[in-house]
Amino acid sequence: MKGKHLKRIFIIIIRKDYYFVQKKIVMIILDIYIMRIIITCYNEIGGFMNDKITIKNIFRHLHTVNKHRWKVFCLCCRVGIPLQGLLHDLSKYSFEEFFESVKYYQGTRSPIKRCKEVNGYSRAWLHHKGRNKHHYEYWYDYNAPQKTPMMPFKYYLEMICDTMAAGQTYQGKNWTKEYQLSYWNNVRDKAKLNLNMLKLLDKTYLEISKKGLNAVLKKKYLRKLYEEYSKEDKSWKKDIKK
Ligand SMILES: [Zn+2]
Repeated sequence: MKGKHLKRIFIIIIRKDYYFVQKKIVMIILDIYIMRIIITCYNEIGGFMNDKITIKNIFRHLHTVNKHRWKVFCLCCRVGIPLQGLLHDLSKYSFEEFFESVKYYQGTRSPIKRCKEVNGYSRAWLHHKGRNKHHYEYWYDYNAPQKTPMMPFKYYLEMICDTMAAGQTYQGKNWTKEYQLSYWNNVRDKAKLNLNMLKLLDKTYLEISKKGLNAVLKKKYLRKLYEEYSKEDKSWKKDIKK
């Protein structure tokens, strides 16, 4: 059987009427070769011993992104925003975000954190938060009278799905319904966030830690929470008159 297969492959490589297949094979080999050159050049520019772009990490990171996007999509379907779930985090495939994340890939935590440790900031994160409205960092303008407007309801939903999926991805089997609340409590004081939004997130993560994901992750339930906290904030108007 083995000999038969080898013979067939040999015929494909040799015979003229398989020209189309031969061309495809050469193109694939060339693609891999060019990719290898680009990666080597990028590594030379970066020059870090531990943080290198490797073919293995390209596939690992791609898998992490796809897995995360799938989880977010499933959660988004639950809260009634499937299209948003489908389009979630697409900018992660862009050159700016993708290769930095491959370079600082660790598997157990976000590569952005590793990059910030090494360089003091992350270009991938700046690119990401500037384009994705489900991050509260998107809704911050230090130069505007109202620096942190309330996030629209649909992005609040996507943010909850995103944080839940990210927690589950990185925690794996250790993930519990209390995890997100403890994570949030560690970062909340540093967050530049609308005061109502801050209280809304406190409440949401507290509810999840008490009642679990299935009880809280419903559009109606989250709508009720959102309406409770999204009273119009006009305090910025007083500041502008001064
Ligand atoms: Zn995102």
